[in-house]
Amino acid sequence: MKPKLVIGNWKMNETFDEAQDLIINIAESLEKLTLETEVVMCPPFPYLELATDHAEENDFHAGAQNCSEYEKGAYTGEVSAKMLASLGVEFCIVGHSERRKYFNESNQTIAAKVDRLLEEGLVPVVCCGEQLEDRKADNHFKVVEKQITESLFHLNQEQFEQVVIAYEPVWAIGTGETATPQQAEDMHAFIRSLVEKKYGTETAYNTYILYGGSCNAKNALDLFAQADVDGGLIGGASLKAEDFVTIIEAAETVVKEN
Ligand code: PEP
Repeated sequence: MKPKLVIGNWKMNETFDEAQDLIINIAESLEKLTLETEVVMCPPFPYLELATDHAEENDFHAGAQNCSEYEKGAYTGEVSAKMLASLGVEFCIVGHSERRKYFNESNQTIAAKVDRLLEEGLVPVVCCGEQLEDRKADNHFKVVEKQITESLFHLNQEQFEQVVIAYEPVWAIGTGETATPQQAEDMHAFIRSLVEKKYGTETAYNTYILYGGSCNAKNALDLFAQADVDGGLIGGASLKAEDFVTIIEAAETVVKEN
């Protein structure tokens, strides 16, 4: 089993002082551990420099939650991939279901953001996942296939190998209702099979496919134990240092035991 990847998505939470405390608390706990697991914290834009400052001395990476689909110029309020790279940010979430829902992001917009990030050497963390209606209608595999195909399969092999995929069933995000380990595994194995068909077996094996959606300190171990679950994208539980560190430890335990 390859080392896991655990990413915290803070969303639009925390003041500057709270952000500082949270980063320091997590960094101090990580310092006491010897980790193979890769850890990424994605605070809101104004706190990214705080994260990159601490990431340098501690064992984690800084990530953003979004970036512009445009390179530069007259796009008031936008933040470019180049700006993120210039701060030392290494990862960026794109296509989160909240951005698809509230900011009308399409698979095409997401594809453009992925391109901007790759141009600047950042790792795009590309989210996909079905609505509850899709799952009830047994359409969930089709929906996810379309999202992945349209947002990622324009990439060449070398570009694709830089990407992380996060499967986040929309009905599980922030709801406390988690996908069962089997539901997660079924979708992850399906996504890996799509990648295999397009980019081959080695790339499919190496691609990180994370689970997100009410993953917490209690259920992380069972989710991470699934063969195709390479880690987690963690929302609410990444705002509590103790819970986030417990999730990281769960990732570490699963890898050591396999
Ligand atoms: C997320 O926002 O990416 C997420 C998975 O949220 P939560 O863990 O709170 O469900």
